[in-house]
Amino acid sequence: MTSSEMRPRWSLGVRAREALLDVAALVAPVDCAGCGAHDRALCPPCAAQLAPAPRTALLEVAPGWSIPLAAGTLYDGVARAAILALKEEGRTELARPLRLPLLAALDLAYAHPAARAALLVPVPGSRAALGRRGFQPVELLARRAGLAVTRALELAAEHAGPGAGSSQKQRSLAARTAERREPLVTREVRGRAVVLLDDVVTSGATLRAAARALRAAGAEIVGAAAVAATPRRIGESAIRWHSIAAVSEPIAVPSHTDPERP
Ligand SMILES: [Zn+2]
Repeated sequence: MTSSEMRPRWSLGVRAREALLDVAALVAPVDCAGCGAHDRALCPPCAAQLAPAPRTALLEVAPGWSIPLAAGTLYDGVARAAILALKEEGRTELARPLRLPLLAALDLAYAHPAARAALLVPVPGSRAALGRRGFQPVELLARRAGLAVTRALELAAEHAGPGAGSSQKQRSLAARTAERREPLVTREVRGRAVVLLDDVVTSGATLRAAARALRAAGAEIVGAAAVAATPRRIGESAIRWHSIAAVSEPIAVPSHTDPERP
């Protein structure tokens, strides 16, 4: 048996899997992710609804420790439908229109003087989600927007405590909460400024966990950005968002000419 035969299914190549998904999107009939209109990944009226509607907030990671947070639009309507279709149906062609709110959020995050030389660190999805999807949505979104990312966060080893192996339904909420993804720092980030990137921010719990892990590794978290933020509802999120006008001058976000290289 060669070493390649022993690899887990998804490690065959996340990029290769993305490429296959793209080919599938080209040959299969697609419907608009926003309204279901035929033969368009996103029809012009729905695409227009992805125009950035940026907002900012302060994310309290711990008492006395807050980081500036920016989102490119609301996680609602077409933006929600497009993000869900990309993540859960593998419709990676939607990364292109979604780059607009993503870049709007990053323009805000990188506008802060401390962020000038910051690494852009994507927040990884859960191991289960990676196995199901075959790709990391946040990393894909960033790369398709032409951004250089630093994979400084890796998933913690799989939880093998009580309840492991049983179905999600059978597990108690407490067990599932204990299993929530806790990223681990894998790269040398000591002394580096970091901007975190996620696809959707709801309560901010995932970003907080990522910020804590990176700070423990010696990084300075100078900001966080998300493509979209869930509308604030009672009990769902304590984040106080402030809508702002889109920034007119794009800020220098780390980029390179070959978006397929990490
Ligand atoms: Zn449409």
